[in-house]
Amino acid sequence: MPFIVNANTIDNPRADEIFQRIDTGGYSSNDELHQLLEEYKTSIAVDDTVRQQLHIRLTCWSQPANSIEQLNSAIHYADKYLNIYKQPSLSVIQLDLALCKTWFLHQLGKNQQVFEQLDSIIDNAYLLEDPRLIADSRTIRGSILSYMGNFSAALEDLITAQNLYESLNLEYWANVNLGQIANSYRRFGDAKTALTYQGKLESFYLKSNQAYSANLINIEMGMSLEELGRYQEANERYQRAREFWLKENELLAAADMAVSIGGNFINLNQLEQAKTLLEQAQKHITPDVASSYSYMNLYLAKVHQQLGNHNQALEYIQTAETAFNEHNNTRGLNQVLHLKSQVYQSLEQWSDAYYSLLAYVDAHEALDKKTLSDRNSEMQARFNTDKIQSENEWLIQRDKDKEQQLQILQRNEQMQIIIIVLVAIILAIVSIFAYKQLMRKQQFKFLALTDELTKLSNRRDTYAQGQHFLKAAQQSAKPFSIISFDADHFKKVNDNLGHEIGDKVLVKLASICSSMMRETDVVGRVGGEEFLVLLPNIDKTKAIEIANRLIDTIANYDWSQISPHLQQTISAGVTSYSNETELSPLLLKADKALYSAKAAGRNCVKAE
Ligand code: GH3
Ligand code: MG
Ligand code: MG
Repeated sequence: MPFIVNANTIDNPRADEIFQRIDTGGYSSNDELHQLLEEYKTSIAVDDTVRQQLHIRLTCWSQPANSIEQLNSAIHYADKYLNIYKQPSLSVIQLDLALCKTWFLHQLGKNQQVFEQLDSIIDNAYLLEDPRLIADSRTIRGSILSYMGNFSAALEDLITAQNLYESLNLEYWANVNLGQIANSYRRFGDAKTALTYQGKLESFYLKSNQAYSANLINIEMGMSLEELGRYQEANERYQRAREFWLKENELLAAADMAVSIGGNFINLNQLEQAKTLLEQAQKHITPDVASSYSYMNLYLAKVHQQLGNHNQALEYIQTAETAFNEHNNTRGLNQVLHLKSQVYQSLEQWSDAYYSLLAYVDAHEALDKKTLSDRNSEMQARFNTDKIQSENEWLIQRDKDKEQQLQILQRNEQMQIIIIVLVAIILAIVSIFAYKQLMRKQQFKFLALTDELTKLSNRRDTYAQGQHFLKAAQQSAKPFSIISFDADHFKKVNDNLGHEIGDKVLVKLASICSSMMRETDVVGRVGGEEFLVLLPNIDKTKAIEIANRLIDTIANYDWSQISPHLQQTISAGVTSYSNETELSPLLLKADKALYSAKAAGRNCVKAE
C-alpha cells in the first residue's frame, strides 16, 4: 500500500483501485489521468477525510506543467492547500504538498530554494516515520542532485529510496527511482550501464502499457545514446518523444525535445537543420525554463560558431553561461567555457581565448575532482555494503567501476596534456605573430631610411644624422667635418656603357667609401651620383687628408672589373663646423668646395 489508508475508513474498493492506478502511472494519456481523477473525486464521500486528502495530494502531483503559467498555478495550488493544512501539527498531507511544490519549483529551475525546503521535508518525514514520504522526498532530492552533477549525494538519496520502495513493494516507484539511478550513471560518464538499466525499464513499461513512463525512459535512453556517440539512434528516440508530447499537447516538453534534437544535429554536422529547429524552440522556451533555455542557447552558440558567425555565437554563450550559473549546472557550464575559448580562438582574440581556456580548465578540474572523489569515497563504500539485496547487479558493477575509474584518470591525464599543448600552441602563435609584427616594423623603418641601390643612408636620414652631429659638436665644442663628393663625368658612363653599368659603379663607389670610414662616420647617398660623408670629432685638416685618400683609392681602383677600359674618378669638397646653428649653410660650403674641385679639373679635393 502506498498511502496507508486508515482502518476506520469505510470500504471503497473502486476508489482504492483508481488511486492505485493513478499512483502507479497506470494511464496512457493526460486525458485518461484527468478522467480517473474526476471519477475518484465523485466516488468518495464528502466526510471521507482520508480519501479527500489523498485526492488533494494526487491532484497536486497531476497538475499540468506545460508552461510557466501552469507551473506557477501548480505552485499556487500547493500553497493554497498548504495554507489549509499547515497546523496544528506536522502531517503527511502537509509534507506531501510541500514536496509537490518543490517538484514544480525545480521545473522552474529554482534549485536553491528547492534544497532548503527539501532538507526540512526529509527531516520531518523521518520525524513522522513515514517510509513512503521519506522515499518520495529522497528520490526527488537525489534526482535534482544528480542533475546538478553532485553524484555522491545523489546516489545516497537514490539508493536509500530504492531500498524503501522495494521493502514497501512499490514496484512502480522502485522502477522510477531505478531510472534515476541509471540517469546518474549516464551523467557520471557510464552511459553503457545506464542504457542497460534503461532498456530493462523500457520493456517493463511497454509490457505493462505505461505509455507515459515508457516515453520518459525513451528520452533518457536518447540521452545515453547521445553520450555514447550514437547520435542517429538518439535522434530517432527524441523524435518519437517529441511526437508523443505534441500529441499530448505538451508544447514545452516538445520544444525541449526540439532542443535535444537540434543539439544532436550539430553532432551529426547537419547545421542548417539544427539552426532551424533551435530557432523554432526559441519561440516556446523562455528564460524561466532554466534547463532547456541554457542548453538551447549553448547549442545556438555552437551552430553559429560552426557557421562562422563568431560574434553571434558569443552572444548566445553569454546567455547560456548566465543561465547555467543561475541554476548551478556545472556540467553545462563546463561545455560553455570550452566553446567560449574556441570562439575567441576563431576571433584571434588570443588573450580572451587564453583566459576562457583557463576558466574551462578550472571548471573542468573542479568537476573532475568532484566526480573522482565522489566515486572514491562514497560510491565504492556504498556499493560495498550488502544493504541492497535485490540489486546485486550493483555489486557486480563495482569491478567495472574501478576499471572505469582508471579510464577517467587516464582521460584526465590526456586532457591535461591536450590543454598544455593547446596553451603552448596559443603562446607560440602569439609570439610568432608579435615577432612578425616587430620584423615588419623594422623593415618599414629600414626602407624609409635607406637608399635602395647602395643600401647607404638616404638623403633624409643623412641630413637628420648631420643635424644630430652638428648639435653634438655645438655642445661638446669638438670638431665636425663633412665631405661632399660627386662622380666625375658620370653621364658618359651611362651614355656609353648603359644604365646597368652606371648602377654598378655607384654601388662600388658606396662600398669603397663605406669601407674606408669609421663605424661612427655616416656615408649617405644624397643625390643621383652625389654622396655625403659625416665625420664627427674630425677637424678640417684631418678631413682633407681623408678626402684625398678617398679620391686616390677610387682613382686607383681597377674599374675594368666592372667594364673593360672603364675609369672612374670623383671630386670632393671638404668643410668643417664653425658656429653654424643649422646644417644647410654647412652643406652649402661643402657644395661650393666641390664645385671648386670640379672647376679645378676634377679628381681632386678642395676645402672651404
Ligand atoms: P660632372 O663631372 O660635372 O659631375 O658630370 P656628370 O656627368 O657626372 O654630371 P651630370 O649631373 O651631368 O650627370 C649626372 C648623371 O648621373 C645623370 C644621370 O643619368 C646619372 N644618374 C643619376 N642617378 C643615377 C642612377 O641612380 N643610376 C645611374 N646609372 N645613373 C644615374
Ligand atoms: Mg657628376
Ligand atoms: Mg652631379
